[in-house]
Amino acid sequence: MTAELTPPEAYQRFLSGDLERELPWEEVDRMSFVGAPGDVRAGIADEVGARTASLLELSHTVHAHPELNFEEHFAAATVADLVRAQGHDIEVGVWKLETAFRATVGSGHPHVAILAEYDALPDVGHGCGHNVICASAVGAFFAVAPFVERLGGRVSLIGTPAEEGGCGKEYIAREGGFDDVDAAIMVHPGKDDHTEARRVALRQVEVTYHGLSAHAASAPFMARNPLDAAVTAYQSISQLRQHMLPEERIHGIFTEAGKRPSVIPSRASAWYFLRSPTIPTIDHLTDRVEQILLSAADMTGTRAELRWDPYPMYMPVRSNRTLASRYIAAMSDRGRDTERVGTRQAGSTDLGNVSVRVPAIHPTIAITDRSIGGHSLAMAEAAISADADRAVVDAAIALARTAADVLADDSLLAAMRAEFEASGGVVDVPSYDR
Ligand SMILES: [Zn+2]
Ligand SMILES: [Zn+2]
Repeated sequence: MTAELTPPEAYQRFLSGDLERELPWEEVDRMSFVGAPGDVRAGIADEVGARTASLLELSHTVHAHPELNFEEHFAAATVADLVRAQGHDIEVGVWKLETAFRATVGSGHPHVAILAEYDALPDVGHGCGHNVICASAVGAFFAVAPFVERLGGRVSLIGTPAEEGGCGKEYIAREGGFDDVDAAIMVHPGKDDHTEARRVALRQVEVTYHGLSAHAASAPFMARNPLDAAVTAYQSISQLRQHMLPEERIHGIFTEAGKRPSVIPSRASAWYFLRSPTIPTIDHLTDRVEQILLSAADMTGTRAELRWDPYPMYMPVRSNRTLASRYIAAMSDRGRDTERVGTRQAGSTDLGNVSVRVPAIHPTIAITDRSIGGHSLAMAEAAISADADRAVVDAAIALARTAADVLADDSLLAAMRAEFEASGGVVDVPSYDR
């Protein structure tokens, strides 16, 4: 590969604003929608109110049984029991994922999907608070269900496994799970009430260097050292960091680095996450990192084996502001002032993969006012606090009202769709697999 001697085109396009075509909020403000009738809005709040105890029990029970990616059997079964107890059918084990589920009321279109997450993390359990996502989504489904027949269309509760690194929603999408969906909605807990906390693209690569082992003292000159290749690549990626966008991140660990100092190992491995705010820029970053990983093998006389995308790439979230405006209005009635633009934080979510297929929102709801980081024991503690319980109730109502608005108001549906098309339309995600 020859070095690029012109500035990266993807970065030029990013800086010129060409890659993020967002509908200006002023335009959203000029729109007005009727939404769902007043008695439906009031009825939704009553439905959630009548089920508060069981929703909070669900939140706390899921929290007490943290399960990792694709292993969320207890959570899926607990949701299924509750959904059946409320008189709805639910299928567990859909789209070839044992812990995915789907329950639907109504038929035809519009079709709103309310997404639940319920996976946890190693060491910190529900340190991402997905128990709150789960309970609020289930609550929203129960609350809107009695009104679906009257409003027309369909609402589904979709259980999406493995948000934390497994990209579960992409597997569901590839099995057609979002093909006939008109809008996908969910809410994530955090420190603030934000409409669109920025979430960036994420892609993974595993690299293994194959070398030649030898006695490290008596015959090191007979070896080809794969650990040298792994270290050289790690250091070169550190140098690359100075020349990336401020929003981009690369982080890696060594997963195999030999067993004894006296034996030059025959294999060494590393695992990296790459993040970038847009698809063209992560594609560019992918090329640069691949060049480094391969060159390190050349420099050390070893052989590199690269495995890109052991899980599918996470897409950046494209928040549909037309749809978000209905969520903001509902939250405002709950006394929550939802800030429109969130921090430009560099996390990622597989909701991004849904949001480049159908209009979607991924707002954040505050479950703590302390400055604690995500993925921490402190956040796990916050996820069953009184503030988190209030968030479950408010989010269930706001999501249900947003769904009802979409069912009731054709002009909202049309405007949402127009915004989606103007911001890039459907992205062919599998075409980015490496
Ligand atoms: Zn997380
Ligand atoms: Zn999360």
